Amino acid sequence: MKDTYRHQGKRQQLVRTVEKKGITDKKVLAAIGKIPRHLFMDSSFEDHAYQDKAFPIAADQTISQPYTVAFQSELLQLKPGEKVLEVGTGSGYQTAVLCLLGAKVYSIERQRELYKKTRTFLSKIGYRPKFLSFGDGYKGIPEYAPYDKIIVTAGAPEVPMDLLSQLKVGGRLVIPVGKDTQIMTLFIRKSPKEFDKTEYGNFRFVPLLQNKN
Ligand code: SAH
Repeated sequence: MKDTYRHQGKRQQLVRTVEKKGITDKKVLAAIGKIPRHLFMDSSFEDHAYQDKAFPIAADQTISQPYTVAFQSELLQLKPGEKVLEVGTGSGYQTAVLCLLGAKVYSIERQRELYKKTRTFLSKIGYRPKFLSFGDGYKGIPEYAPYDKIIVTAGAPEVPMDLLSQLKVGGRLVIPVGKDTQIMTLFIRKSPKEFDKTEYGNFRFVPLLQNKN
């Protein structure tokens, strides 16, 4: 579990790459620069950790591409202390970014193996989400709702109604919507019944799966 000068140097290059692709939020860039992404991957693949690419992790899942993590994080417009629901904990990399941005993070993962592994790992390297849950993120985590922000890190064939209903008025939901490729979509809750929807570019995620616990 080492973070060497070499790792740190590569990480600064990654920050510049992500910045060149259009990320401007300084806090998000600082988080990418700080989090040792290589520790979130199997050590034999650590050479890939600071390339701007998604990569396989356990249970046929992926750690999202750093640019994608940064893009979604920027769209959330997080303020310290806000309550965030993350659907798809995966490796915990995005969770760590949210923690560094000062959010109170609630995250849910449907793969038991990943849930357990990531729970142990995050506490070992000192990131403290408020609550990590094992279960179906389609349903959100109603016990702790409403949330200021919700981020979905798997491709959703359709927008889960439960997630929209767990958003505060004024809150933001960032979700990649689509089957084979996804359109990054931002919903802002204007009132209990009204949502503004804005679409951003195309992305590619592993699918958000339903009812398969
Ligand atoms: N944020 C993660 C991305 C992981 S990929 C990271 O940075 O590493 C997406 C994750 O969503 C996978 O771990 C997958 O198991 C999980 N997932 C898929 N469907 C889900 C569901 N219905 N509820 C919760 N998690 C889900």
